[in-house]
Amino acid sequence: MAARPSPYLDSLNPAQREAVERLDGPVLMLAGAGTGKTKALTARIVHLLNTGRARPNEILAVTFTNKAAREMKTRVGQMLGETVEGMPWLGTFHAICVKLLRRHAELVELKSNFTILDTDDQLRLLKQLVAAEGIDDKRWPARMLSGIIDDWKNRALTPEKVPAADAGAYNHKGPKLYAAYQARLRELNAVDFGDLLLHMVTIFQTHGDVLEQYQRWFRYILVDEYQDTNVAQYLWLRLLAAGHRNICCVGDDDQSIYGWRGAEVGNILRFEKDFPGAHVVRLEQNYRSTPHILAAASGVIKGNQGRLGKELWTEAEDGQKVRLIGHWDGDEEARWVGEEIEALQRGTRGQDPVSLDAMAILVRASHQMRAFEDRFLTIGLPYRVIGGPRFYERMEIRDAMAYFRLVVSPDDDLAFERIVNTPKRGLGDKAQQTIQVAARANGVSLLDGARIAVDKGLIKGKGGAALRELAEGLARWSGKLRGPLRESGVDADRVIDDEDRAVRMEHGPAEITHMELAEIILDESGYTAMWQNDKTPEAPGRLENLKELVKALEGFENLQGFLEHVSLIMDNSTEDAGEKVSIMTLHAAKGLEFPAVFLPGWEDGLFPSQRSMDESGVKGLEEERRLAYVGITRAEELCTISFAANRRVFGQWQSSLPSRFIDELPEDHVEVLTPPGLYGGGYGAAGLGGASSGLEARAAEANVYNSPGWRRLQARAAERPVSQPKESRTTVIDLEAVSAYTVGERVFHQKFGYGAVVGIEGDKLEIDFEKAGVKKVVARFIMAADD
Ligand code: ATP
Ligand code: MG
Repeated sequence: MAARPSPYLDSLNPAQREAVERLDGPVLMLAGAGTGKTKALTARIVHLLNTGRARPNEILAVTFTNKAAREMKTRVGQMLGETVEGMPWLGTFHAICVKLLRRHAELVELKSNFTILDTDDQLRLLKQLVAAEGIDDKRWPARMLSGIIDDWKNRALTPEKVPAADAGAYNHKGPKLYAAYQARLRELNAVDFGDLLLHMVTIFQTHGDVLEQYQRWFRYILVDEYQDTNVAQYLWLRLLAAGHRNICCVGDDDQSIYGWRGAEVGNILRFEKDFPGAHVVRLEQNYRSTPHILAAASGVIKGNQGRLGKELWTEAEDGQKVRLIGHWDGDEEARWVGEEIEALQRGTRGQDPVSLDAMAILVRASHQMRAFEDRFLTIGLPYRVIGGPRFYERMEIRDAMAYFRLVVSPDDDLAFERIVNTPKRGLGDKAQQTIQVAARANGVSLLDGARIAVDKGLIKGKGGAALRELAEGLARWSGKLRGPLRESGVDADRVIDDEDRAVRMEHGPAEITHMELAEIILDESGYTAMWQNDKTPEAPGRLENLKELVKALEGFENLQGFLEHVSLIMDNSTEDAGEKVSIMTLHAAKGLEFPAVFLPGWEDGLFPSQRSMDESGVKGLEEERRLAYVGITRAEELCTISFAANRRVFGQWQSSLPSRFIDELPEDHVEVLTPPGLYGGGYGAAGLGGASSGLEARAAEANVYNSPGWRRLQARAAERPVSQPKESRTTVIDLEAVSAYTVGERVFHQKFGYGAVVGIEGDKLEIDFEKAGVKKVVARFIMAADD
């Protein structure tokens, strides 16, 4: 077939071109960030089609996210410049496996219309099995089993293949329950996420004819982000590629960030062994970032051992150094980032105006997003959250806000409907109807209707009692509504600044604060407990968000003011068009690029995470470092790293140290900024600290730690801990400490010795100690075991 013109080849460098044009045999493109791996992979698909080497559906291309798949599809379409009949098999491993499994479901005793369970369903099912087995779910939570089974599936282990070494898993019942779970799924004609790949691998391994059919069918296989494939995905690919051996994988060992989910960076390092005669293409020219940004990224990743060690270069002009700035606390950081984004947008930082679409904030943990969202909503800066709902749209936040709304306005019927049976109070449709009728008959609000219904005995039993309790609670909480700063001499109309906070810390509020009231409402209504008792993987995150919500209240005079603020900003933020700043986690940012990137929260314990720091080996820390590398290399022209000296949790200060990664940034490529608030304005204060040792020290010195405000607060905080919550209604959960552990993990306690985590409850861990038996201990007193 005569080749059509190929303009897409002209925009490639020789190495990329080689990877694109060498269509036969295995090819590995192993190269650093921004070297055009994805671009070349996309061009390769186009080239296959353009040269007539393959029909669209003979090409199998795997991306890591659905978003990446969509982008690649669009680009292929654009590059071809004409419509092709059909499209390649282009999607994530899961998306492709669903399609295949529907065709061959009967081979694993399923029907082709099988359902795919989400994690909640999966857990519910496991709970039933655990209960049927007479296992104490408190001691051996089903969530632990679910983690173990996922891990087996990631390793492509069916119940029969679970190795003897894992026989002791989940109190020796793991393998048996795994088999029971798989059997139950079959009965239900259902699969979980891990099954999609596992079943396909099983089918390929046991039905040679089916495998052969696809080996013949997929003449060309392409895989992006190969460094993050797990064992099951790897086996699946290897089986499929064994026919034509036309497999092209691209990846970067320095960007392997899914080890915690079973990814094996070893897969990429083993490629040449798996596919003898593989052609390896190395790309070294980076087209994305400026030299300063590249140098900063290389400086950090150098700290990892056993890398392949790639050097990147670029023709781009030096541009601006990576900017580093320390802030007093997380809100201050968010405020600064907001101002900076607006300045960049207006073009008042000595550059051309930057579109909001060109800017992104990449956080280590999703709870960091709240401060930014709040700030941006306040100043009306449009933003989008990638990979999750926006903070105030989250279920738990809407629930909590509904409680607050009812306390402030007992007539808010929508709020009442939302929470009347959340948490479960045994008030089903019938009871709710009774309330509606009573309210309408008396011309009153639903809440009053409920009171009437209870008084008249129209709703009896448990539900009636619970409803009465709710109504009484709402009345009690409403009675506690006051403007807390009124008596403390602080002008409440003013924006609450650091000075005000200090005053509040010194005098303390006259009555309970609205933050305390919010905690009381969430506790006494049973809402917090609902999530504490929830063993789904999402529950800890939801509790974390509730904690963030209470933190958000701090900037307001009272509950009313806060609710007004949220309803106003929610209204403004509904329209979807127009430019927006992106906010996402570092994990979600893989493969993406933005002209300006903000990397906040570079503090030890947050980034790197506490968990990775507590681990005995360097594995966790190295994965965090790769995450830092991914973060910095997302930036094209401007990269700004920041940290806060303080993060506040329920009005209590938690001071933190700048991230150890900051000290790994090469000084020559970093400019230390001074936050304008502290010294009355001005940037470019590099060298301000005088004789300094290392960036970290200089940043710290130049900023918060040396400021009078910071010292004053430190002193005050030491003298007088603020609003210690009372034991009786503890919701202060040291989630930071708790989230460092997972069920099943081996830990050490000074007094009780070694043991395994069997449950997590609030800020306590339930641990089965080898010598002392099962005990509940506060997470802070636990260390990860060194073995
Ligand atoms: P990552 O490791 O972050 O996934 P990558 O290696 O996949 O990065 P790409 O996203 O493909 O890199 O490319 C990075 C940027 O460089 C893109 O904007 C791309 O368009 C551009 N680019 C890649 N190759 C070239 C080239 N030969 N000429 C000009 N620009 C290029
Ligand atoms: Mg890429």
